[in-house]
Amino acid sequence: MKLVHSLAELREEIASHKKSQKSIGFVPTMGALHEGHASLMREARENNDFVVLSIFVNPTQFGVNEDFSKYPRTLPEDCKIAEASGVDLVFAPSAEEMYPLGFQTYIEVGKVAEPLCGKFRPGHFRGVTTVVNRLFNLIEPTRAYFGQKDIQQCLVLLRMVKDFGSPVELVICPTIREKDGLAMSSRNRYLSATERKKSLVIYRALQAVELLHQQGETEVAELSLAAEQELARVPEFELQYLEILSYPDLEKIETVKDQAVIAIAGFLGKTRLIDNSIL
Ligand code: AMP
Repeated sequence: MKLVHSLAELREEIASHKKSQKSIGFVPTMGALHEGHASLMREARENNDFVVLSIFVNPTQFGVNEDFSKYPRTLPEDCKIAEASGVDLVFAPSAEEMYPLGFQTYIEVGKVAEPLCGKFRPGHFRGVTTVVNRLFNLIEPTRAYFGQKDIQQCLVLLRMVKDFGSPVELVICPTIREKDGLAMSSRNRYLSATERKKSLVIYRALQAVELLHQQGETEVAELSLAAEQELARVPEFELQYLEILSYPDLEKIETVKDQAVIAIAGFLGKTRLIDNSIL
């Protein structure tokens, strides 16, 4: 496995690989890797000749009062996980490398980026699409791998790729959870022992809705109520949103007819947690 930091080195690696005309699987991350990330890398390894992982804590997707400066940065450990997961090339650029002086071109996806995290993290998806598009241009992957854990991110990027007519195939991989159900996240390490226990309330709320839906309930008001009741058991969980929207368009619905997504976000202490389930 090779680790490069500069665009020049990355371009060289990609160019020499492209000569062989084999497939490239790409996994973009912000590092602090865990089993959720590893599952994407393994999936990429299985289906591509060459696997590229990017590790970049992207400043443009963080709001002013968010955790950019304290976001965990663990490159040596990340490289071990990447190597064990079959990655060929790690690209870990600096912010100056990705956003050279004078950078001013951003990509903004429309409606699908507006609800949920779009409402609570203004500018977040603009940062995500801008950096992912830039990485796609540099790496020209055959396939790129994303986690369902960040479902709106997946849908926003799907829209971007479709609207640009990009040749990359996006693969959405299932959410990997801790044994007790908490969705793995780099931010889980911020949780105190007490908060860690309380964090399970999100998964329980999702499960309550899934169960009720399996029993035949399709009214969004009823399904939401089941989740609200679960969430109310942990008053410390400061809810940002609990929404059941159409999938994949993320539009308001009153009844679940085809596919829908239930998405939850909120804070436990200072830690923001999100999770979702597709109904
Ligand atoms: P991040 O480093 O948080 O930007 O995540 C990088 C990629 O890993 C994104 O596509 C995430 O959706 C995905 N990911 C993060 N956590 C999980 C998880 N628990 N299960 C599956 N994929 C995940």
